[in-house]
Amino acid sequence: MSVQEDILSAPHTSEIVAPALSSRHDRVRGYLERLAGAVPQVLLLEGGTAREREALSLWWATRLNCPEESAPCLSCAVCAQFAARNNRDMFYLDGSEGSIKIDDVRAVRAVLGEPPRGRYRVVVLAEAQALGIEAANALLKSLEEPRPGTSFVLLAPQRERLLPTLVSRSWVLTLAWPDGDSAPAPIAEWADALHEFVQSGHGWFARTGTKSSLDHGTGLQLVAYLQRQLADALTGRASTSFSRMLASRLDDAALRKLDEALAECQDSLIYNVNPALVLDWLATRLYAWARTSRRA
Ligand SMILES: [Zn+2]
Repeated sequence: MSVQEDILSAPHTSEIVAPALSSRHDRVRGYLERLAGAVPQVLLLEGGTAREREALSLWWATRLNCPEESAPCLSCAVCAQFAARNNRDMFYLDGSEGSIKIDDVRAVRAVLGEPPRGRYRVVVLAEAQALGIEAANALLKSLEEPRPGTSFVLLAPQRERLLPTLVSRSWVLTLAWPDGDSAPAPIAEWADALHEFVQSGHGWFARTGTKSSLDHGTGLQLVAYLQRQLADALTGRASTSFSRMLASRLDDAALRKLDEALAECQDSLIYNVNPALVLDWLATRLYAWARTSRRA
C-alpha cells in the first residue's frame, strides 16, 4: 500500500473518536471540558466499554492540543495526529495486548523530564488493570512528582481493579455504563438464570446446553453486566437483586476472586472460546463461592 493510499484509507479523526461523541457521554465530556482549564496530572476513566474509554482518552488528547478556538475541531492536522496516536507528545500503552511492559513505561519515563513539544503530552494507559507490579511501581514514581504539561490518563473497567495508590492519585470520572442501569432483556434473562443457579443449583446447564444458545456478543454483554453488579456490590451501592445477592452471599475474598474470574471470562471470549463453556465455568465457581464464603 502506498503512503498516499495509506492516508486515504486511514479512518477519519471524527470516526476514531465517534464513541466519545455519543450523547451518552455528554456529562463526562462536560467535566473534561472544565478540567481542560486546570488539567489534573492523573485522570482515571472507568465505566463504559473499552472502546468508549479509548475514544474518550483520544478525544481528551485532541481537546488539550488542538490549536483551534473550537477545540477539538477534529479536522486539523494536530487532532488527526493525536487521534491516530501519531504525535511525539502522545503515548498510548495498551494493557489489553498483554500486560503493559516495564520497558514501555521506561520509554515514557525517559521523556518525562523534558517539556512537551507542543501543548500537552498525553500518556494513556489503556486497560491499566493489566499493569504488571514492576511497571506499576515505575509508573507510581512518575506520578509522585509534578509533571507540568503532562496528562496521564488511566483507563479501566472499574477503579476497584487498580492499585489503591494509583486511584488515590487520580481524578476519577465514571462513564455511563453500557445499556444504562438496566440490562436489555436477553442479558437480564441470563442474569436471572445465573442468580437462580447460584441459589438453587438448578436451571443453568439446561440453558447453556441448548445449541447455539449463547453467542459471543451476548456473552460479552453479560460479563460486562456482571462486572457492573460486582462494582455495585463492592462499593455498597447494590441496587439490583443480582448485586444484592453478591453482597449478601460472597465475602470480600470471594468478590475479589469473582473480579478476576470475570476478567478471565472477558479474555476468553475475546479469544473466541465457546461462550457457553466460559459462562459454565463462571457459574460453577460462583455457586461454590456462595457456599464457602463466610459473611461476618
Ligand atoms: Zn483540531
